[in-house]
Amino acid sequence: MRLTPRAPVRLARAIGPLLLAAAVAAPAVVATPVAAPSTSARTSAAEPDFPAYDSGYHNWTETVAEIMQAAADHPDIVKVFSIGKSYQGRDIWMAKVSDNVNTDEDEPEVLIDALHHAREHLTTEQALAILHWLSDDYGTDPTVTRLVDTRETFIVFALNPDGMRYDLTGDPFRAWRKNRQRTPSGTAIYTDLNRNYGYDWGCCGGSSANKSAETYRGPAPWSAPETRALRDFVNSRVINGVQQIRTHITLHTNGELILWPYGHTKTNVPRDMTVQDHDAFVALGRAMAARNGYTAEQSSDLYITDGDQIDWLYFQHRIFSFTFELYPTEKPTVWGDHYPDDSRIAAQTARNRSAILYLIDHADCPYAAVDAAAANRNCGPLYDDFELDRGWTRDPYGTDTATAGRWERGIPAPTSKSGPKQLAASSGQRALVTGAAAGSRPAANDLDGGRTTMRSRPVTLDADPAKVGQLSFYYLFAHAATSTSADLFRVQIEAQDGTRTTVFEQRGKPVDRDGAWTQVYLSIDAWAGQTVRVVVQAVDGGAGNLVEAGVDDVRIRR
Ligand SMILES: [Zn+2]
Repeated sequence: MRLTPRAPVRLARAIGPLLLAAAVAAPAVVATPVAAPSTSARTSAAEPDFPAYDSGYHNWTETVAEIMQAAADHPDIVKVFSIGKSYQGRDIWMAKVSDNVNTDEDEPEVLIDALHHAREHLTTEQALAILHWLSDDYGTDPTVTRLVDTRETFIVFALNPDGMRYDLTGDPFRAWRKNRQRTPSGTAIYTDLNRNYGYDWGCCGGSSANKSAETYRGPAPWSAPETRALRDFVNSRVINGVQQIRTHITLHTNGELILWPYGHTKTNVPRDMTVQDHDAFVALGRAMAARNGYTAEQSSDLYITDGDQIDWLYFQHRIFSFTFELYPTEKPTVWGDHYPDDSRIAAQTARNRSAILYLIDHADCPYAAVDAAAANRNCGPLYDDFELDRGWTRDPYGTDTATAGRWERGIPAPTSKSGPKQLAASSGQRALVTGAAAGSRPAANDLDGGRTTMRSRPVTLDADPAKVGQLSFYYLFAHAATSTSADLFRVQIEAQDGTRTTVFEQRGKPVDRDGAWTQVYLSIDAWAGQTVRVVVQAVDGGAGNLVEAGVDDVRIRR
């Protein structure tokens, strides 16, 4: 769409008529994926290419060749693999950059991806530039060397290779945005990959159900093989209940913007986001913008999107996920200017070096962008706001006796009987509670019949007692006036040898006790150097008594 005003500029330059004719005549679809073609593919009539005046851009075969060359040049720190196939069968290549690259080390991980949208070719150039910074400058640039040694960075260069190639079969471009997926019946249905992700897909007027629309979201979430490949890779990075990827950038053009979630709502901190995380998004976004001169804002400040990638990555995995809209600044048009002259590539990708290295650096503690207090609070060995399943196990010892209202991670429905008993989550929308649903009456879904137990994933504490940090959590324990000391809420530490020590306990008594989130700080220095688990128990020891318990925001600080 932005091609028209640029056409005179294009024509004034050396466009050989033969070259144009070759580009137009090139088949739009090549069924066989190209594994590791040589750079001479540029001259092949079969491979769609940029016009001569934009030869600084990499077409698909050149992109693949460059990735493979980087791996060949730096086999100790660059590994290339495919995360899946595009609709037309091309490999979606990913490069991992890290020291000991063939080992999955316990290091914070970063994901960067490019070219969801076919015409946004500058994003592939940016991804290639990042690969070169991290690999070519390893051993000479101290920051790069440190980040390669202490992080694992994963880069996707073109999530939409079919669309990337198709865009180059125009005159000279097609301004193509979507993938090249057709329905089995042959009807042309192409999907906007950045509206096809599975969180709040199609929820909010930020995509289209019209198959010919630029923002067609597809017939169902994850209907596109390209988004499924990205999803499956991200899901595979959950190790022992912990998502290894902490920060992410998806590269788009254009507008010179840094966007944080959510796109589906104008609300700054809806219930499906925590205040802590929003603060970190804003701090990270502004810090990056200060480094590259972009404008940082919430994604929905640009326009509402739904089913987009950053919303899913944050909601489903709590990854600090950003959209970069690259050069140039947005013109007064909806779809932007995606074809800057190739002479701009070097400067406009180098411009983002400091910002991108900053986000790679902050993968070890995104909250550090807010302040030291937020880092100490949230970046210790354990921080669980229960918005995700982070590896808690119910009834780990097989000794639970509760018959109803067992611990579960859920969205607690407030209940009231002679005052509030179960409350909404302390932060975000989810907590660990004894029966999240309200039920038909306040006592319908409380804890009954005995004991319920939850145990955390193993957490390794610092060997220096002065550095172990406190255990803190919010809890609520509510009961009716018929309660006795047989009802209780307690927290234990399970040591490495399996012994359990109670570090906090509240017992029932014959008074009406309302629910109130209360924060507790406890010393756990005695377990320095050990791998421990946190155990929470609630017991309804009487008959027919109303007992509710809840836990949220469990932390071992640093
Ligand atoms: Zn885009």
